Amino acid sequence: MATIRLKNITKRFGQVTAVDNLNLEIEDGSFATLLGPSGCGKTTTLRMIAGLEEPTAGEIWVGDQCVYSSETGEYVPPGKRKMGLVFQSYALWPHLTVYDNISFGLSIAKRPSSEIKSRTIAMAKILQIGDLLERYPSELSGGQQQRVAIARVLVMEPEVLLLDEPLSNLDSKLRMDMRAELKRLHLETNSTIIYVTHDQLEALTMSSHVAVMHQGLLQQWAPPMTIYSQPANVFTADFIGNPRINLVDGVLSKNGDVWEVVAGNIVLPFVAKNSTSTSLKEQQVRLGLRAEDLYLSKEPAPGLFEGSVYSVLPAGSEWYIKVKVGEEILTVTIYNDLNLTIDEPIWVGVFENTMKCFGERGTLL
Ligand code: ATP
Repeated sequence: MATIRLKNITKRFGQVTAVDNLNLEIEDGSFATLLGPSGCGKTTTLRMIAGLEEPTAGEIWVGDQCVYSSETGEYVPPGKRKMGLVFQSYALWPHLTVYDNISFGLSIAKRPSSEIKSRTIAMAKILQIGDLLERYPSELSGGQQQRVAIARVLVMEPEVLLLDEPLSNLDSKLRMDMRAELKRLHLETNSTIIYVTHDQLEALTMSSHVAVMHQGLLQQWAPPMTIYSQPANVFTADFIGNPRINLVDGVLSKNGDVWEVVAGNIVLPFVAKNSTSTSLKEQQVRLGLRAEDLYLSKEPAPGLFEGSVYSVLPAGSEWYIKVKVGEEILTVTIYNDLNLTIDEPIWVGVFENTMKCFGERGTLL
C-alpha cells in the first residue's frame, strides 16, 4: 500500500488543457474523490494515474516509486502499477458465469486452483453475491452486475482501486445501496480508492477527501465537510450542496470598528472563515448563505430581514421556501410546515457564524 502523489501534472490535448498543473497527495488507505462538472479533467487524471494516458508534464509517485516523470522519462506501464480500474461501462463476459467472470484474472495469472476458488468465493461474499456464482450476467440486476465488475477487479488485490463513475448506470435507490456497500468495502479491504464522479452527494457521502476540479484546475482538496462548510471559492460553494447556496452580491465595509457585509437589504456582521486572508480591505464581495443556515419567522424581530413568500416547495421531510428580500430571491430550508401563503410577509434570519463571504477574486475571506 502506498501514498499516491501527483506533482505538477499537466495534460494537453492539442489546444485543450484537460488538467492544469495538478498537485495532489492521496494518502494510503483513503477514499479520494475527483469531483467536478463534465469536462473538468477527472477522467483524464484517473487515466494518468492508471498509466493509460501520458501526462504532458509532471510526475506521478506511488509510495517511493516514481511511475511517471516527464523529466527523467520514467514510465511504469499500467499492468505493473498494481491498480484495478472499473469504468462506467463495465463489460462482463456474457458467456461466463459470475464465478468465471470473477476468477478470470486469477486463472490468467495461473494461480493454483485452490487459491482461485478460495479468493473468488471470499470476494463474492464481501460483495454479497456469493449466492449468484452460477448465474450468467444476463440473469443479474444492474446492481448485481456492478458488484461482479468490482469483485473481478478486487480479487486481483490491487493496492489502488480506480473507479470512474461506476454507479452512473444505476437507478437512484441502487446507487444509494451501492454507495453504502462501496464504503463498507473500503473499510473491509483497506484499499486506497480513487473515485471519479460529477455527483456532489456521492462525493460528500463516501469520501475521506474530495478534489473539486473546474476547467482542469484544482479548486479545493479537503475532507467533505470542510468543502461544505468552508468552500474555498464561489465555484466550490455553488457546486456543492442541494439546494444550491444563495449567492448575493454585496460590499464588505467597515462600520465604526466592525466589518460588515451589506448585500441589498441584508446587513450582516462579517465572520472570517479563512484564516489565511488576514488583511481585510473594503471590496465588492459575494455573500454565500446556505438554505439550511437561514430560518423564517412570521413576526419581525431584531436582526431579521423582511421579505415576502415567493414560492413554497414541499420535499417530504423538509420544505424549500423561496423568499423575496429586496431584489433577491433566497431559498430557505425549513423542517416544519409553516402553512405559508404566496406573497405573505415573512422575516428571514441567518444562523450565527454561518455566512460565507467571497472576495474580489472569488476566494473565501
Ligand atoms: P466527464 O464527466 O464528462 O467524463 P471529465 O471531467 O472526466 O468529464 P475529461 O474526460 O478528463 O473530463 O476531459 C477533460 C477535457 O479534455 C475535455 O475538454 C475533453 O474534451 C478533453 N479530452 C479528453 N480526452 C481527450 C482526447 N483523447 N482528445 C482530445 N481531447 C480530450
